[in-house]
Amino acid sequence: MPTEQTNCIFCKIVAGQIPCYKVFENPAVLAFLDIGPVSEGHTVLVPKAHYERLDQCPPAILAEVIAALGPVAKAITAAVSAPAYNILCNNGSQAGQVVKHLHFHIVPRKDNDGLFTQWPASKYAPGRAEEILQKIKEKMNI
Ligand code: 5GP
Ligand code: ZN
Repeated sequence: MPTEQTNCIFCKIVAGQIPCYKVFENPAVLAFLDIGPVSEGHTVLVPKAHYERLDQCPPAILAEVIAALGPVAKAITAAVSAPAYNILCNNGSQAGQVVKHLHFHIVPRKDNDGLFTQWPASKYAPGRAEEILQKIKEKMNI
């Protein structure tokens, strides 16, 4: 298991050095209310061990994270009477990751809440999907 990163805010929260509103905890995982909620109940769920990105986190720890996400999301959404929720995991600064400790946002959603309204869907030019697919296959090593 990687050691706690001294300059990581989420490691400090896990270590109890920075206070948080704790939503859920088990030996592998901690969930706490986001300090800047985009909706009531907005929570971040983290592995206690420090990994920066999803693809760097060992499968056994990821399994613990994923196992906790559903029940925690269910409790949060029930508590705030939200009929829906998003799970978001930003990986890399270009994707919006500010805190470099792997985390999953649980964002309760309600009708017409105005969140995440943009989804700029496009279409592949002819042949481009096949090209991209071939490149992905060349990089896949699982
Ligand atoms: P990111 O943009 O990295 O995916 O999201 C990081 C999240 O962590 C943000 O939503 C931000 O509000 C939250 N956050 C940053 N620092 C703290 C903190 O000290 N305490 C809590 N509870 N949340 C934090
Ligand atoms: Zn950390």
